[in-house]
Amino acid sequence: APAENPQVVIDAHGLPYLDAKLPVKRRVADLLSRMSPAEKAGQMTQAERGAVGEGADVTGYDLGSLLSGGGSTPTPNTPGAWAKMIDSFQLRAQATRLQIPLVYGVDAVHGHNNLAGATIMPHNIGIGATRDPQLAERTGAVTASEVRATGVPWDFAPCLCVSRDERWGRAYESFGEDPALVESMETIIQGLQGRSDGRDLSRADKVLATAKHFVGDGGTEYGSSTTGTYTIDQGVTKVTRQQLDAVHLAPYRTAVDRGVGTVMPSYSSLDILGDGQGPVKMHARADMINGVLKGRMGFDGFVISDWNAIDQLPGDYPAHVRTAVNAGVDMMMVPYSYKDFTATLLDEVRAGRVSGKRIDDAVSRILTQKFRLGLFEHPYADTANASRIGSAAHRAVARQAAAESQVLLKNAHGVLPLRKNQKVYVAGSNADDLGNQTGGWTITWQGASGTHTQGTTILDAMRKDGDVTYSKDASAPTSGYDVGVVVVGETPYAEGVGDVGNGHDLQLSAADKAAVDKVCAAMRCAVLIVSGRPQLIGDRLGGIDALVASWLPGTEGDGVADVLYGKRPFTGRLPVTWPRSEAQLPINVGDASYDPQFPYGWGLTTLTKVPQGGAGTLRALAAAAAVAERAGADQAGRALVAKARLIVQQKAGQNITPAVAKPFADADHLSLTGRYGAAVQRLETAWKAVD
Ligand code: BGC
Repeated sequence: APAENPQVVIDAHGLPYLDAKLPVKRRVADLLSRMSPAEKAGQMTQAERGAVGEGADVTGYDLGSLLSGGGSTPTPNTPGAWAKMIDSFQLRAQATRLQIPLVYGVDAVHGHNNLAGATIMPHNIGIGATRDPQLAERTGAVTASEVRATGVPWDFAPCLCVSRDERWGRAYESFGEDPALVESMETIIQGLQGRSDGRDLSRADKVLATAKHFVGDGGTEYGSSTTGTYTIDQGVTKVTRQQLDAVHLAPYRTAVDRGVGTVMPSYSSLDILGDGQGPVKMHARADMINGVLKGRMGFDGFVISDWNAIDQLPGDYPAHVRTAVNAGVDMMMVPYSYKDFTATLLDEVRAGRVSGKRIDDAVSRILTQKFRLGLFEHPYADTANASRIGSAAHRAVARQAAAESQVLLKNAHGVLPLRKNQKVYVAGSNADDLGNQTGGWTITWQGASGTHTQGTTILDAMRKDGDVTYSKDASAPTSGYDVGVVVVGETPYAEGVGDVGNGHDLQLSAADKAAVDKVCAAMRCAVLIVSGRPQLIGDRLGGIDALVASWLPGTEGDGVADVLYGKRPFTGRLPVTWPRSEAQLPINVGDASYDPQFPYGWGLTTLTKVPQGGAGTLRALAAAAAVAERAGADQAGRALVAKARLIVQQKAGQNITPAVAKPFADADHLSLTGRYGAAVQRLETAWKAVD
């Protein structure tokens, strides 16, 4: 252990920073004034829990934080084991001179996904499909409650990526391709953290959230990686300043308004066209982190680097360290190199290449969040809510989210909803696979096929509702059934993958194609695609009666069965554009030549009888929507747009030409930004194109 850190426990009595009655600002200033340079460097350091053994280095290096990261050593699999582990590290932190508690972080990106038995929500792409901000908030609240009950006060979520290319391996971590949609789902931050002033953070059911990855992670250009390992993940985002502002920065303004406690920069590089700098790694972009995020937007939380991201910066190690710190990164996720990091940071400070002022700012920001989290008063796990982990009440929220996330893309002959008395033939690789249904970031970083946690598969759930025969590969005889349900799609992955041709492209597997073809030739059929992004369905669509985008619905297959059997209506809508072919990628709402298979915002409903109407009705709706808009009546405006959308959808059927798709998709964007009258006018344009 460094010599600066004698293992003396002070008598804390009477010190202002330990007085919970004093304002946080005062406590921070007091504590900072007592800290040595090494203690400050320690606060800026986050190590992987598997790298610190029993945790002696937590004391020896005054570590500010530990994490269980995506690519980490196996995590404990019971709530009690989590709490015990974190408490044992916290005990080490309590043995430091100033007794500054650790802040432990995990990636709980769709529920407490590192913990077997936790409630797993649909991945963000499914949450975006719900178009239900209140539900998004409730999923965040369930996640926070389950995470904090295991002693973890910090969650590296939500991802605010605006995903612009389906080949990106993180497309499913995005709420959608439209920044306005992403912004509308940021209610999840309140679900996680509580009130925007940070006053709920000390509650036993709230966690610190992380807006990631700042900025432009979803906009990286296919084939743009400089490392050669990833063809799109961690690549370069090339945008004009205006595009950067409107598409990628917008969600961060909202996150700052909502009081998000931490922000994580992106692995990717940003190339602002016309600024003459060329591509620069985000962890080095002082103009963006110091300038835009902390300066212009007024972000007062702290910035946590991504995993080993500073190692990707140019120059030698000291250059990595000073570049990131001087750019505004406050805490470094240096999972295994924490010793090098602290030593190098101290050298850079001594050499005057990183100022003491910058260090004090970083440490103050970190301590502020620790005080808000109440960690000084309650450093150890509060497991009072542990019994709620995976509880019926929590699963009910996940079930509702799964149900609302289902997008009905086609429904010929009224195949859906199914009727209880029908004989149903179920096939396909994803009908009975909890691992495939939960996707990546579940139990392990990459996720895995098979049964790795508790939950209900789509098949399990359908069996409760109907008369179901299952043949995964459709080898069982197909005669005698009323309807077939073929559940196909992807197997789990996380991050880098996403490039076409490596086994994780946008094509259904040969086995899935064969199952679809066989079942749909033999009977009326519905095809469900369980995947993190659109899969190319092409001409096969003609032979399929009903098509559903199920996304990655999580542990509650019951939610999917609810809409299949009509216990709840289909209400989900596409959060991303559904392409016809690889040649169209990237394809996004607002593109000039927009000719997708299904436009952004598409989604049939089984809610009510589809309203009748024509151009006249649409014109009346547009006028009413404009009035609602002027009166600030959000609900009324949205309802009018929804009605108009249904009228157009009914007429368009599956015949979605570019002239229908483009105004249709634009209408969705307009209604998200409160321009209801204009939205209905766009729908009228779409209507005229099918007329
Ligand atoms: C990911 C982050 C994640 C971190 C810690 C990185 O590989 O990009 O999203 O928070 O790992 O697991």
